[in-house]
Amino acid sequence: MNFVFPPAPQPYVAVADSDQKIPVRRIFCVGRNYAAHAREMGRDPDREPPFFFCKPADAIVFDGATIPYPPQTANLHFEGELAVILGAGGQNIARSSALDYVWGYAIANDLTRRDIQSQAKEMGRPWDMGKGFDQSMPISAVQSVAKIGHLSTGKISTIVNGSQRQSADLGDMIWAVPDVISILSQSVSLAAGDIILTGTPEGVGALNIGDTCMVSIDGLGTLTTHIGAPAYQD
Ligand code: MN
Repeated sequence: MNFVFPPAPQPYVAVADSDQKIPVRRIFCVGRNYAAHAREMGRDPDREPPFFFCKPADAIVFDGATIPYPPQTANLHFEGELAVILGAGGQNIARSSALDYVWGYAIANDLTRRDIQSQAKEMGRPWDMGKGFDQSMPISAVQSVAKIGHLSTGKISTIVNGSQRQSADLGDMIWAVPDVISILSQSVSLAAGDIILTGTPEGVGALNIGDTCMVSIDGLGTLTTHIGAPAYQD
């Protein structure tokens, strides 16, 4: 291919206990997907369908990274989430077969410039600048379905500087992983290397310079992210 300049590096995520990597194609994120009493509303026929936004694949950073406090915000938030890594794709995937498309699972932190996102909501503008900034996607190494099976329940928690801020169960999701895959595939063609963030439980809050944020999910371990000084002045 006669490119004018070299293509950007292929974004990837690590595979746990392996030197293999997974090339990342797109990152889809589910909006609000937990309720405080999910069991009680599990069959609520009036529940709204899930909605999606995207983060750029090159926003990925790895476990243990120090992220510079991002520009243009005074309210950086953590959002601990289960990430689903697809090993195959398609359109109009049936809910009953949706899990067959999952290669593995990881822990993600959907870092958010909450003030920018809130302003976008108020003004009817896109969320991109609130969600898709540089280094906004910490993600752990991926555990394969072949090794650990599927995750439908299990504790998800977020600890900031040693104090617990989020605690929920994956079973509290309003839309479970098969639902999310199936519904998303009705809107876009999914493919191997796509990652879906499944939403965050209650308890989101601010991160400041010097903070350490640890998101843990039973069976997957812990994703640690440090917040450093800004990379440049606003
Ligand atoms: Mn989120």
